[in-house]
Amino acid sequence: MAFLAYRVDVSGRDITASWQEREEGELPAGDVLIEVSYSSVNYKDALSANGNKGVTKEYPHTPGIDAVGTVVSSEDAGFSAGDKVVVFGYDLGMNTEGGFSQRIRVPAAWVLKKPEGLSEEDAMAWGTAGFTAALSVQKLERAGVSPEKGPVLVSGATGGVGSVAVALLSKLSYSVVALSGKEEKNAWLTDLGAKKVVGRDDVLTLKGKAMAKPIYQAAVDTVGGDMVSAIIPQLMPEGAVTTCGMIAGVKVEASVFPFILRGVSLLGVDSVEIPRADKQAVLDKVAGEWSLPALENMTTEIGRDRLPDVLAAILAGKGVGRYRVNPN
Ligand code: NDP
Repeated sequence: MAFLAYRVDVSGRDITASWQEREEGELPAGDVLIEVSYSSVNYKDALSANGNKGVTKEYPHTPGIDAVGTVVSSEDAGFSAGDKVVVFGYDLGMNTEGGFSQRIRVPAAWVLKKPEGLSEEDAMAWGTAGFTAALSVQKLERAGVSPEKGPVLVSGATGGVGSVAVALLSKLSYSVVALSGKEEKNAWLTDLGAKKVVGRDDVLTLKGKAMAKPIYQAAVDTVGGDMVSAIIPQLMPEGAVTTCGMIAGVKVEASVFPFILRGVSLLGVDSVEIPRADKQAVLDKVAGEWSLPALENMTTEIGRDRLPDVLAAILAGKGVGRYRVNPN
C-alpha cells in the first residue's frame, strides 16, 4: 500500500526534503508494521533533517524518533493487528526510517504497548523529550531529591525536555527555577509552574569556579557543556544534576571539590537504548501518577506542511514547548 513519508536527501551541501509517496515494500525489514497516528519533533530530528551524519549516516532518509499508532500486522506473537502502540528511541528515525511517515516497520523489541490512560495525542505530546524529562526527574528522586529540600533548576526551560521538566517538577510540588535564553517567554514559564525565571548568563558566569554559593538542591540540565560546569558548583550538599543534552557543548569542566566536599552527583540520562521494560515503566507512570493535563497547552500540533519550519526553529534553538506531528 502507498503512503506518505517526509524524505530528506543530502547531496554535498545541498539538503532537500519533501513528503513523498512510498510503498510498504520499501520500508526496512521488521516484525511490526504500524500505521502512524502521530509523531513529535525532537532536537535529534532537527539534526537528522539537517544532514547531520552523527545522527543519520545514509540519505535519503525519513527522520522521526517518535511514533504512536495502530499495528497493521505483526510477525511477533506479542502484537496483533489493532493494538495501539508507541515506539521511541532505539534506532527509529536515526538510521531506520522514522515516524515522520504514515507507516513504519520496526523490530518487535522496540514496540511498547500504549497504556489505556494515555491518549495517542498525549503520548506524542510527551514524546522522547517528555519521557527524557520524566527519566531525569526519576533519576533525581532516586538520588534522594525531594520537594522540601530546596529549589530545582531547569535549563533550556522553554525547549521540549526543559518545558516538560518544569511542568512535571512543579506538579510534584518542587520549587522550580527555570533558566532560559528567551526573556520574552518568562510569563509562559511562570504559567507552567516556575517560581522564578533566570537568564543564561545568571548561571553561566559561575562556569569554571570550583565552588560557589549553594543555591540549588538539584538541576535538570538539558543543554550540556558550560551550563553543567556552571551548575555543579552551585549545588547544595548531597545535591544532584542530570545531564541529557549537548546543544550548548559536549565538554564539562568541573573541580572535584563539589563532589568531595558537598557530595553532589552528576547523573546521566539516556532515553534511547535503555531496556524496553524501563521505557514501558515510564510510559505507564506518565499515564498515571505523573499525568500532566497541562501538557496539551504546551503542545502545538502541526500537519505535514509546517514540519520543515518547525524543524528549522528547533535547530536554531527557537522552539517553544512540544510539537506533535500529524502525518495524515
Ligand atoms: P529543544 O530544541 O526543544 O530545546 C532546547 C533548548 O535549549 C532551547 O529551546 C533553548 O531553550 C536552549 N538552548 C538552545 N541553544 C542553547 C545554547 N547554545 N546554550 C544554552 N541553551 C540553549 O531540544 P530538546 O528539549 O528536544 O532536547 C534538548 C537536548 O536534550 C538536546 O541536546 C537533545 O539532543 C537532548 N536529548 C537527549 C536525550 C537523551 O536520551 N539523552 C533525549 C531527548 C533529548 P531556552 O531558550 O529556554 O534557553
